[in-house]
Amino acid sequence: MNRVPRFRFAPSPNGELHLGHAYSALFTAEAAREAEGRFILRVEDIDFLRCRAALVDRMLEDLAWLGLSSQEPVRYQSKTMGAYRTALSRLSALGLLYPCFATRQEIREAVGDDPGHPRDPEGMPIYPGLHKHMAPHERQRLMDEGRPYALRLDMERAIAMAERKAGGPITFREYGTGPAGEEGELPVNPARWGDVVLGRKDIGVSYHIAVVVDDAAQAITHVTRGQDLFHATDIHRLLQVLLDLPEPVYRHHELIGDETGRKLSKSAGDRSLRALREAGVTAEEIRELLGFARQTVR
Ligand code: GLU
Repeated sequence: MNRVPRFRFAPSPNGELHLGHAYSALFTAEAAREAEGRFILRVEDIDFLRCRAALVDRMLEDLAWLGLSSQEPVRYQSKTMGAYRTALSRLSALGLLYPCFATRQEIREAVGDDPGHPRDPEGMPIYPGLHKHMAPHERQRLMDEGRPYALRLDMERAIAMAERKAGGPITFREYGTGPAGEEGELPVNPARWGDVVLGRKDIGVSYHIAVVVDDAAQAITHVTRGQDLFHATDIHRLLQVLLDLPEPVYRHHELIGDETGRKLSKSAGDRSLRALREAGVTAEEIRELLGFARQTVR
């Protein structure tokens, strides 16, 4: 049986959609069209402290204005929090998570101003391991006191377990390109992220856990997104192996440059789609500028 390819566009509603989002959404829709696949929307609103319902409506409206709508019911992360917690419980049962009570300030102090301290692909200092080896009774005491904590992945153990399960190094298939031109079958390197947070102190879950659970729940076969998320694929593939989730292929795209935005936004003052629209720019002009003019039927 031939599987219909499934593509998703998964914006986070923590601001107005701008040209970069439009590019990513059109890129995804075009990829789905070319593959005779489905274009599916997901609203990544786990961050209920920052996402506002009004912004979600505006976002869907902006997409509709661009001519894009989901071919399936939209999935809202805020409504499926239980699924992410279940995934975290599984990782916890595997002994791969530990609570970290450290505050940002404490982490900053532990890293100090050592310029040689290793950094992750986003430039953040690798977590220095505070609280990783805390005695169980001490952990319990802090929990009983109600001290807030994040759940971190024990990266070393996670990699060892995942490689054992996969029978060797974990890879992914890149059909687009990474920021340094990476393409084809690529090895992942999750170790460069250190012990990442999978359960945030404030909301209990994280982007990384939600994205892999959702891609599986929505049976996504093709993950199309900006190159800013290319390195995060390390963590996503690792989690897919650990949680026995299917492996999608990846197609990362370039981020559109400021120059492109400037061409249109002169009159609007900013690059949000709404501002452009209010300044009289048409959806067709945006599609054209971004290289996705509607194909004329021949
Ligand atoms: N929600 C993420 C963003 O808006 C995209 C997540 C993804 O495509 O994996 O940047």
